[in-house]
Amino acid sequence: MRPTLATLFFPALISRMKGTATKSVYLTFDDGPTPDATPNVLDILAVHKIKATFFCVGANVERNPHLYQRIINEGHSVGNHTYSHINGWKTSTADYIADVKKCSEVLKSHLFRPPYGRITIKQYRELKKEFSIILWDVLTGDYKINFGGDKCLEVVKKYSRNGSIILFHDSEKSAEKIPDLVSKSIELLKERNYNFKPLSDIKSN
Ligand SMILES: [Zn+2]
Repeated sequence: MRPTLATLFFPALISRMKGTATKSVYLTFDDGPTPDATPNVLDILAVHKIKATFFCVGANVERNPHLYQRIINEGHSVGNHTYSHINGWKTSTADYIADVKKCSEVLKSHLFRPPYGRITIKQYRELKKEFSIILWDVLTGDYKINFGGDKCLEVVKKYSRNGSIILFHDSEKSAEKIPDLVSKSIELLKERNYNFKPLSDIKSN
């Protein structure tokens, strides 16, 4: 899914950063931290000296505080991805905001990414008072069972451009393919002279 329509109706949503003179991309990892995937991702990022952004689920931060601390200690950015990974379209505004706030109790950030990229206009209006709301323009598909690592890599190859926000998952679903996929993606992007940046606390684009 490419959130092009959404950005028309929700102008403050960010799905791609402005390109920089030296080409940059932003690697982002959703749904962790998890013991199955996060340590491998952190190891790879450390080898390449790359800073990325982790949109964490509050419940997973509570379950794996040492992994969350490692993300912070290694200098990566973190963002709020709700406490229980809820779908905005199926949740009332009050319940949704409460879940986001619950996540804020364990994770301090001005970055927010809605699970599934789905929020209503009302939720959006509330959230944008406090957060930069970050989507993506490159969805690797790493969470899909029948979508192999090679296909994910093809997506990275085909759609990444200057300023791209690339979405991976450090979750159980993607744990098996993620080490190889992240390594190969970094190598491919390096060959194309991209720099890697974490998302900082921006208020608007
Ligand atoms: Zn998610």
